[in-house]
Amino acid sequence: MAWRFALVIDPVASDDQREDFSDTLHTVDPNAPVLPLGELSAQRGDGVFESLGVVDGHPQEVGPHLERLARSAGLCDLPTPNPAQWRAAIERVAAEAGAGESVIKLILSRGVESGASPTAWITLATAPDNLRARRDGVRIATLDRGYPADVPARAPWLLLGAKTLSYAVNMAAIREAQRRGADDAVFVTNDGVVLEAPTASVLLRVGDRFVTPEPQAGILHGTTQLSLFSHLESRGFSTSYETVLLDDLEDADAAWLLSSVRLAAPVSAVDGRPKTVDRELTADLNAYLLSPRD
Ligand code: PLP
Repeated sequence: MAWRFALVIDPVASDDQREDFSDTLHTVDPNAPVLPLGELSAQRGDGVFESLGVVDGHPQEVGPHLERLARSAGLCDLPTPNPAQWRAAIERVAAEAGAGESVIKLILSRGVESGASPTAWITLATAPDNLRARRDGVRIATLDRGYPADVPARAPWLLLGAKTLSYAVNMAAIREAQRRGADDAVFVTNDGVVLEAPTASVLLRVGDRFVTPEPQAGILHGTTQLSLFSHLESRGFSTSYETVLLDDLEDADAAWLLSSVRLAAPVSAVDGRPKTVDRELTADLNAYLLSPRD
């Protein structure tokens, strides 16, 4: 990914009422060293983040992403981000995006060890070319998450519903899926409940019903899935959050992986077994996801 622009943010209190945040946003060279070596984000992955899609300069779903950033920060005992300040930062960065698809990344780190405050920054990069994944689909390998479905409720300190910077396991799962001849992974609990992909939500179509795993299952509540549900409902489809079992994924009429930058990638195979790709519906979903959304 080519970094094109970045701001370091001096985080202000969540209830700070000022209207102009410009003196708290500092432009930095996105390709030069900026962070100190003591940064806990780098040393321990101790922080939270969000990735937003930007289409022709419009940052998508800013409100839902900021709400999830605040939720993740709360789960990690980090100070609540000031939404107006982060909105101002997103607007400043999106103004540099230009035509085409870009990615904005928001990062809130615990800061430097023994330091006084968290560290925050925001970057802009050109989005990867996702046309093939959106058109032809992705082959998935289902991978054992290694714990049963009741773990998120029993062990909240595992931060399973937070979007933390600790993505080493997620990246390892994608590499394992690739070793198995697939393009991406889907995590399944060791008692057979489908969770999510390492960087995407799972959506199934069963007849005229669209189903996604319930977010209380210790997964991220996807902003793309949330937005797509309102689109599908406006087209007369029913939508629901359910406990999705491995058999449900295998038997579904169609499935997609949904995320803010790749958008709707149809699933073309599950563990080597081909799955039908509904090209027309997928094109409709992606046309909606590429339209300006707030
Ligand atoms: N689940 C995980 C683990 C993710 O990392 C992501 C996105 O990065 C998602 C789901 C999808 O979330 P969104 O649609 O908000 O991008």
